[in-house]
Amino acid sequence: MSAVSAASTGPQALSVPAGEAPLGDLACPEPADRPDLWPTTARRTGDGELEIGGRAVSAILKQAPAPVYVMDEADFRGRAATWAATMAEEFWEGYGMRGGGAFYAGKAFLTTRVARIALEEGLGIDTASRVELAVGLAALKGDDDAPDFPPSRLGLHGNGKTEAEVGVALAHRLGHVVIDSPEEIDHAVAAVRRLRTEGIYAPDERAALMVRLTTGIHAGGHEFISTAHEDQKFGLSIHSGAARAAIDAIIAAPELELRGLHSHIGSQIADPAGFEAAAEAVLRLRHEVAADTGWLCPEIDLGGGLGIAYTGADAPAPSPATLARALAGVVRRVCEELGDEPPYVSVEPGRSIAGPSQVTLYTVTGLKRVELGEGTARLYVSVDGGMSDNLRPALYGAAYTALVANRLPDPQAGLVRSRVVGKHCESGDIVVRDVDLPADLAIGDVLAVPATGAYGRSMAMNYNLFTRPGVAWVREGEQGWVLRPETVEDLLRLEG
Ligand SMILES: *Cc1c(COP(=O)(O)O)cnc(C)c1O
Repeated sequence: MSAVSAASTGPQALSVPAGEAPLGDLACPEPADRPDLWPTTARRTGDGELEIGGRAVSAILKQAPAPVYVMDEADFRGRAATWAATMAEEFWEGYGMRGGGAFYAGKAFLTTRVARIALEEGLGIDTASRVELAVGLAALKGDDDAPDFPPSRLGLHGNGKTEAEVGVALAHRLGHVVIDSPEEIDHAVAAVRRLRTEGIYAPDERAALMVRLTTGIHAGGHEFISTAHEDQKFGLSIHSGAARAAIDAIIAAPELELRGLHSHIGSQIADPAGFEAAAEAVLRLRHEVAADTGWLCPEIDLGGGLGIAYTGADAPAPSPATLARALAGVVRRVCEELGDEPPYVSVEPGRSIAGPSQVTLYTVTGLKRVELGEGTARLYVSVDGGMSDNLRPALYGAAYTALVANRLPDPQAGLVRSRVVGKHCESGDIVVRDVDLPADLAIGDVLAVPATGAYGRSMAMNYNLFTRPGVAWVREGEQGWVLRPETVEDLLRLEG
């Protein structure tokens, strides 16, 4: 086994370990080369610094020291507005459809401000816990300059919902209350009876529910699989009959109304084919239910899961318009074939809205060359964060990349095969598994990791009692906090 020869020069030059990609292949693309990896306003300044939202990283870090997530507000707004517009267009009544829309999956990253922005740009907000729902409800409230939004713009998901959770959702008359088990139907019946006696519901008012189906279709990456078996905690199986039993129970209950059918097939999906197959399965079940019961439910929701690019090795993801058009094609074809009126169609993107809108800025705090034999080595780059601010690499081996953000590298310096690691007591504490960084990388340099806006801060935790970093918004040269950084005092205050 011979090492791939290193293109780097100078005393720090390291050869790439045998069997790995040639040096240079894993360098992080600049915003100019792969704009889809970066927030839309990311660029290099004349001085060679990375700039986001009209602010150079040195200016951002002066007010918001690393580690910090930086959210490009215009980017988030743009992605939210694009989803709302493309669903409205593809499912427009004028084209023979019955309308379409999108709910932002708040679990990707949710604060009151973020929810407010999504609402302003025309999206609903999906929530999956009591606190996400509380944040969504808080975001509905306007002020002197801004109107209130109705609770019909919110949804509640999740498995194992308690009676209290279902009750809150129904009391507020959320637009989507998505049932995941037979017990949740019982909870809904009990809640409606209570709400009627309390005078919150009219004596004959029903609660509108959706049913989460498992269609047998699972997708992720470029492939989807279709099986008759369901071995997962979410949803009610079409194949086993569990879905149909739940649907029939809702239709039969005088307290309830079947608003629609829901399917979510996976995450980080690059090919619309899985969505199309799931849409067809949902529409066929809708038809079957109508044929048997006379109730053609007015809405379907096809979930989230559209992927994004995280590194230069990922192809650019399909656009929301590509997915919306594919879904509209299936809805039109299948409804025509079955002779059904098309439903209102919604989707629930999370990652594809929040993901590219944030980058994480870290400071390099350590450099360690680890010899791997035969003249090869890897540079381990420690940064002032890690698995506590980005759990995805440790949780499921997610790939990221990193760019030196405080300066342009010296072109003479060459590259080194590197691994960016966090400061936690866990060998799986990896920020970026494989990246080619400039060989003149120094302690104090700033690394920017793109596409951390979804499931970054929202999955952050306190291992080693790291305080969770803040999220700074940037916009047209201005900056503030979406979420301030957690402090030691915040943690000590929790102690009994
Ligand atoms: C996670 C999830 C989403 C959002 O998925 P993304 O991959 O972030 O787009 C939407 N709907 C449901 C039900 C989910 O569980």
